[in-house]
Parts: sequence; C-alpha cells; structure tokens
Amino acid sequence: MPLEVVIVPCLEDNYAYLVHNPDLGETLVVDAPEADPILAELNIRRWSLDHILVTHHHYDHVDGIEKLRRETDATVIGNAADAERLPPLDQPVEGGGEIALLGEACAVIDVPGHTVGHVAYHFPGSELVFTGDSLMVLGCGRLFEGTPAQMLDSLMKLAALPDRTKVYSGHEYGLANARFALSVEPDNPFLQRKAKKLEKLREEGLPTVPSTIEEEALTNPFLRVRLPQIRKAVGMSEDADPVEVFAELRRMKDIFRG
Ligand code: ZN
Ligand code: FE
Repeated sequence: MPLEVVIVPCLEDNYAYLVHNPDLGETLVVDAPEADPILAELNIRRWSLDHILVTHHHYDHVDGIEKLRRETDATVIGNAADAERLPPLDQPVEGGGEIALLGEACAVIDVPGHTVGHVAYHFPGSELVFTGDSLMVLGCGRLFEGTPAQMLDSLMKLAALPDRTKVYSGHEYGLANARFALSVEPDNPFLQRKAKKLEKLREEGLPTVPSTIEEEALTNPFLRVRLPQIRKAVGMSEDADPVEVFAELRRMKDIFRG
C-alpha cells in the first residue's frame, strides 16, 4: 500500500505534511511550522508521531519542532551539513543519501538555492517528493542564500524524477505563481488549463498541492528556461545561457506585481 499523505495548513500559507503507513501504523511529518495544527490532526486520526523531517532552517518550517518533540516521541531528521542552524537532530542525514522510513526507502536530495542547506525527501516507492521551498507549484523559492546556478541545478534534479511523482511544497503560492507564469508564457495551453484548475481549487478552499513532476515540466517557467519562448519572454536571445535566463526570470518574479 502506498503511503498516505495528509496536508496540514499552518501559519499564514505554510503546509506541513503527515505521511502515514497504515500497515505499520507509523507516521512522520515533513516540516513543522507550528505544533498545534499538527498535533490536532494526529489526534483526530489517532496516529502517533514517529519522525519529524526538516527541509530547511527557516522559522516557518522548524518553529513547531520543539513542542512536537516534547509531546511525542518523534525523532528529528535533517541535513547533517546544516545541523548548526537546525534544531538538534536525532538523525542527521546526508544529501545524496538514502534512509529507511515508514517501511520505504527515502532519498535525501540536496537542493540548495533558497538556503544552501535545503534538502528534499523523495519516496520512490509511493511516488512522493517533499520539496519545501525549492520546487513549488508553478514556481520556486526565493534565492536567499544560493546562486541561480545552484537553484537551477536543484530544480533540474527534481525535474528528473519520474513523471508521476507527486510534488508537495512548503507553501500555498499556487495562484500568485500562476499569474506570474501566465505573464511569461500566456499561450501555453497546459499552463492555461492548470491555472484554471488552481483557481477552482482555491475557490473551494482546497490546496493547490500536490502537483506532479510531469505537470511542472509542462507549466513551471523555472523548469523551462531552455525553451525559446521563455528566453524570449525575459528579453534574451535563443542561445542565452540557461543560468542567466533563470536568474532573470527569478529577478522578474521577485518584483512581479500581478
Ligand atoms: Zn523558507
Ligand atoms: Fe518557507
């Protein structure tokens, strides 16, 4: 049986994710923006928490960890290379490594860019990837620490995962990202369809996650910087360096007011 995922809205627009193996009765949470909504959801389902996975050190992904640790027996798992900035880790993991969680293999993927120590967690058996503030629905995280080259490389690693992989990112930015994506590529029929779908979801109060790697490849401008129409949209020539196209696209998004 594939792992079950429960989306837990936190703070203004963050998401934590409960991931559960019903056969083993084991549960983990990816990121902990705040403890209470996560504890409430665990309580409703009568699940106990075994692990807390951290994507990166920003407060809106770690602030709930201390309380969760106090109220459950969960072990905290995060990037060894960024341990100094993360809450105390019970199980430091290395980017590029693999760990066993919930009875499945979980690949830890280094995805620097938003922060230099950012990691994503990929469960190939259940076709899930938790990307935090790296790859997001129709977008990507801001470059606070890494270079454009690093972020583009990180996004390409994620884009290389199997098409059907479901993408769960750290925030509800779907509509704002859709407006920017449409300003870049207004004639992309997949993007038009996706934007309509996201609007409908938000009207119904539903999250725009998960997306899939396939959908993102067809619609997310930050994954499409090698295509002529994207290069043109940022005012560059068709043989422009993809890293420069990416950097310009990210800069345009930073100042975009849709
Ligand atoms: Zn962040
Ligand atoms: Fe964040």
